[in-house]
Amino acid sequence: MTIYNLGSINIDHVYRLANLPRSGETIHSRDLDHGLGGKGANQSVAAARAGARVVHLGAMGASDDWVLQRLVDAGVETDRIARLPDQVTGHAIILIDAEGENSIIVHGGANQDLSVETVRRDLTGIGPGDILMMQNETNLQAEAAAQASAAGATVIYSAAPFEIGALRKVLPHVSILAVNEGEAAETFAALGEDLPVQGLLITRGPEGAEYRDLTAGMVHRQPAFAVTALDTTGAGDCFAGWFAAGLARGEDVPTALRHAAAAAALQVTRHGAGDAMPDRAEVLEFLA
Ligand code: ADP
Repeated sequence: MTIYNLGSINIDHVYRLANLPRSGETIHSRDLDHGLGGKGANQSVAAARAGARVVHLGAMGASDDWVLQRLVDAGVETDRIARLPDQVTGHAIILIDAEGENSIIVHGGANQDLSVETVRRDLTGIGPGDILMMQNETNLQAEAAAQASAAGATVIYSAAPFEIGALRKVLPHVSILAVNEGEAAETFAALGEDLPVQGLLITRGPEGAEYRDLTAGMVHRQPAFAVTALDTTGAGDCFAGWFAAGLARGEDVPTALRHAAAAAALQVTRHGAGDAMPDRAEVLEFLA
């Protein structure tokens, strides 16, 4: 049971400022942090720390080896990550003001420059029992999903950042659609609630999560665990990665949901995204 994850790898540059700059304004940063981000890398780290075998498919620039090392340290298999000599590693410039409000610029870079030949080759061997995870931050989502679903794998797609055109293209090949509350509302507004998928995972921040098993006609609800949130960046990715790892391990849906909610509760109590994903021992201790 392997999780393949076709996903973005970003460097998050986090600048703390007194206030967010207005047009024409220059502001000095008080503080700068570099961290591992990108929804893809976050989900890979979450699933690997949850104990799954995770093969990350994606692309980076030729430098930034420390980013690759963070993935390796988390237990993610990185040998199918392409290094593109003419591209930069994807990155996000994250500005946070004194009140915690943010403005973010994302540059996709290598994440948007994967070749179809590479992805096709890297997915050779995927089959029944395996999972392909994806989010909307790379190119070739529909192509990869079609190949994985034709091979009998489960395709879990996070429709984030939400883009209806991308969702429409990939949806025929998706087994489980994962969305937060805002993305769920946009999905239902565009496509209705009768979606052509087996399962729908909806996370609602501190309100918890639900999994609609559309094949069995059942809804599983999971409340969030009460914690004091410090930084909710990557909470949805943590939840999705842990949920997928649970399914890959053969857990039933309620167990996978409970572990994912505990992991996400721990994750929001820490600064950072990919670097803040808890491991299995931490989650089991939290639940003990
Ligand atoms: P996204 O990051 O995609 O917007 P959500 O905000 O829905 O995702 O969060 C995903 C999951 O993380 C939630 O279902 C919940 O389990 C957990 N979570 C998020 N915020 C909190 C919080 N303040 N307290 C406890 N758990 C939280």
